[in-house]
Amino acid sequence: MNRFARPLLLSAALCVATVVPVHAEIDVIKLKAAIETSVEADYPKLDVLYKEIHAHPELAFEEVKTAARLAAEMRALGFEVTEKVGKTGLVAIYKNGDGPTIMVRTELDALPMEEKTGLAYASRDKTTWNGRETFVAHSCGHDIHMASWVGTAKTLVGLKDQWHGTLMFIAQPAEETVSGAKAMLADGLFTRFKKPDFAFALHDGPFPYGYVSYRVGIGSSNSDSLFIKFRGRGGHGAAPQRTIDPVMIAARFIVDVQSVISREKDPTEFGVVSIGAIHSGTAENIIPDDALVLGTIRTFKPEVRAKMLAGIERTAKAAAAMSDAPAPEIKITEGAKAVMNDPAVVATAEKVLKAAFGDKFRTSPPGTPSEDFSEFINAGVPSMFFNIGVYEPERVVAANNGTGPELPSNHSPLFAPVPKPTIETGIKAMTLAVLSAFDQHAQGK
Ligand SMILES: [Zn+2]
Ligand SMILES: [Zn+2]
Repeated sequence: MNRFARPLLLSAALCVATVVPVHAEIDVIKLKAAIETSVEADYPKLDVLYKEIHAHPELAFEEVKTAARLAAEMRALGFEVTEKVGKTGLVAIYKNGDGPTIMVRTELDALPMEEKTGLAYASRDKTTWNGRETFVAHSCGHDIHMASWVGTAKTLVGLKDQWHGTLMFIAQPAEETVSGAKAMLADGLFTRFKKPDFAFALHDGPFPYGYVSYRVGIGSSNSDSLFIKFRGRGGHGAAPQRTIDPVMIAARFIVDVQSVISREKDPTEFGVVSIGAIHSGTAENIIPDDALVLGTIRTFKPEVRAKMLAGIERTAKAAAAMSDAPAPEIKITEGAKAVMNDPAVVATAEKVLKAAFGDKFRTSPPGTPSEDFSEFINAGVPSMFFNIGVYEPERVVAANNGTGPELPSNHSPLFAPVPKPTIETGIKAMTLAVLSAFDQHAQGK
């Protein structure tokens, strides 16, 4: 057992039993203080790294310079780095004796949009995306995650006498297109390298810096894309009896599909279907041949998802059958699956993070956006995904009580995390979460 493992476990046990909690917190707080000292010393370099990455973002599967920059940082820390895993991804391994393998993931990619923060280090970079020129910006905050990831690696290496096992730090491409995790897995992430025993990832969000939020169980939604082509028979608008009107069929479907939500799905379960695009016809007096309907389907639970997909398909076929039309072409493309936090991993980290962050570590309801970290979880790795805040607490209070402006969220051109406290919180929380998992394993649990 390492000299740090025992106090950590003890602190957790005492917290739960509410027996002399004073002792309990002292050790985690001591450790937190040690981490804070290390992070404070490292921060100037991390600030440079963050601002460089922020100013020069790259889009999904094009993160060549970003990946090379991170590879250099990790090699300098003594990690063994493999590049080009899943096209532009990185795998960095650090072995430190017998023990579990713990994976920590960052994303690499930015968004095809213009940054309008006016910050000195704002991105003005442009690229070509889907044949069109576009600005590129780190408006989802993946640059914060990268700086926290490097900082966490540095901190854990500095504390290497406190844990035993293997660190598997991965930098994943193309999270925004929810395809990078799959690409890394398809390229042998868990076969060429050891499949980790646990995994952690974090994401920033528009709440106060210094705060960490988490969930037990579902952390984000399943996302599926819906494509339906209703086939009809075109003709003159004045002679509908000679046609099969696909616009009528599409309209009927769009209304009726909401009854899958309101009548078939359990009302206490989350599920949404939104139609975002309808394409059909050219002129007011022509009944077209077909109508295209595009939408998104969001759910948390696989059984709710299965029920909704079946209901959507049945409703589309029925809408066509009512008009005696040919069967529609239905394509449902699976996007990201819901992130499911592992109760045991969360319970272990929770005790340590609560002792370290107090009431700044709190649960939050699951978010409806999607995230492909779920791919690693579904490949059989018990995991925890948590969030860190990015804004000055007083600005968040003012926004919430209406005395200050609303704060831009991720994907806004104005999204502007305060770097130092945000990155420092990310490093502290991630380091403690990883140490809690090593410690739990060291106790044979
Ligand atoms: Zn995003
Ligand atoms: Zn993101």
